[in-house]
Amino acid sequence: MIRVHNLTYAYEKGDSPVLEDLNLHIAEGEYIALIGSNGCGKTTLIRHLNGLLIPSVGEVQVDELNTRDSKSLLEIRRRVGMAFQNADNQIVGMSVEEDVAFGPGNLRLSSVEVCRRVERALDMVGMTGLRTRPPHTLSGGQKQLLALAGLLAMEPKIIVLDEPTASLDPEGKKRVLTLLKKLNCQGLGIIHVTHSMEEAALAERVLVMDQGKLIADGNPGEILSRVEWLKTLGLAPPHISELMWQLKKGGEDLSTSIFTIEDAVEEITALLARLRSSSKAYLPQKADEHV
Ligand code: ADP
Repeated sequence: MIRVHNLTYAYEKGDSPVLEDLNLHIAEGEYIALIGSNGCGKTTLIRHLNGLLIPSVGEVQVDELNTRDSKSLLEIRRRVGMAFQNADNQIVGMSVEEDVAFGPGNLRLSSVEVCRRVERALDMVGMTGLRTRPPHTLSGGQKQLLALAGLLAMEPKIIVLDEPTASLDPEGKKRVLTLLKKLNCQGLGIIHVTHSMEEAALAERVLVMDQGKLIADGNPGEILSRVEWLKTLGLAPPHISELMWQLKKGGEDLSTSIFTIEDAVEEITALLARLRSSSKAYLPQKADEHV
């Protein structure tokens, strides 16, 4: 759906490029996490995906539309919705429903269609009961959900989110992440820029950037298990990957492509069973054998 071809970008003519010869294909319905240390170019890249920035060299195409073609920009932005870290900056309405209606209201749709979209979007983010609330009275998590509702009301094919959970408390994070998973299951494409490797683990594909280049592209198991490599990039691996890696380094026969608690429990339980059945190992069968 999105094709990035030989993308190079410098903010000022003559400056060294912030993005260098980047190539990327994104299919419909993918859930992608984009990771990389601060300043490596993640925001600059995603701003190219809906034509907020235009390549210095190369092309970005959304379906058959090129971001260089100014006549296509409205349609590109309808297909590729984008939300940024600070939800406060994206609020435009005096009430929740007015805010959500703002985007579709600018699409020359009938008022019936605008209402339908607002209803649907509020329902999707679970905010129907807050429709009359002034947005400034919402919590940080609710404001981020409101920003998402505004995007969804545009009925995009893909949404691009720049650290949507960065300023949220654990409950707010959980709500946003659960919603992203649900929306993706319903067919919506997601590109999620994040610093959290735990959040990256929720995606089906992880892209890694370093110094303006795309340096890795794989599933979370492949990428997040590379514990030492992630650290050299200034990224903190998921705690579970780190634990499995330390155990493996200690000589245990374990898979390191594991980053969820459930999978780790299963893997370690299987290891303990193997150790028990091995004549060399001494492990108590039950806790009371020690008494
Ligand atoms: P990330 O999102 O990975 O933190 P950014 O894309 O924000 O990285 O920034 C990449 C580089 O581009 C950084 O060196 C940053 O200082 C620079 N940069 C970002 N925005 C601008 C801008 N508007 N003008 C000039 N340089 C910028």
